[in-house]
Amino acid sequence: MDFALPEFLAHAVALEQEAAERYLELADMMEAHRNDAVSSVFRSMTRFSKMHCDSIKLRIGSIELPKLKSWEYRWSSPPEVGGEEGFDYMIEPYNALKYAHANEVRAMQFYRWAAEGSSDAEVRRLALEFASEEAEHVAALDKWIALTPRPSTTWQDDPDTLPPVV
Ligand code: ZN
Repeated sequence: MDFALPEFLAHAVALEQEAAERYLELADMMEAHRNDAVSSVFRSMTRFSKMHCDSIKLRIGSIELPKLKSWEYRWSSPPEVGGEEGFDYMIEPYNALKYAHANEVRAMQFYRWAAEGSSDAEVRRLALEFASEEAEHVAALDKWIALTPRPSTTWQDDPDTLPPVV
């Protein structure tokens, strides 16, 4: 995709805005289920996304952005989500972390794809920078996934196995 700068910035700001919203939802959901450790992971991801969004807005300045169709940047839902069952699926911290991870990977791939395809040097520079930020988020979530027990019938009985808040 050969993005012009305004098009690229419009995608980036939309992507980060949605990430911040989804992370806030996930954080609230984990908190409601008394999983403070994973809730705090999502709260810090919310903060990172907002900070990133703010710095993109600074970069946008007075550049006029094209309007995007929502499907171009939305997070994908986990295939298991839908109705009551989907809710149960997502209250498992492990599944919520995997869901966030999948979307961070998509964001990273989006930025890499933009960097590879654009003939605009500034788009390439920004896209590479953003891709490496997303790679850090992916790595952070990888660590948490490794520390989080896989869903089982017993995890609720043993909340102490969850990693401490850092
Ligand atoms: Zn991210």
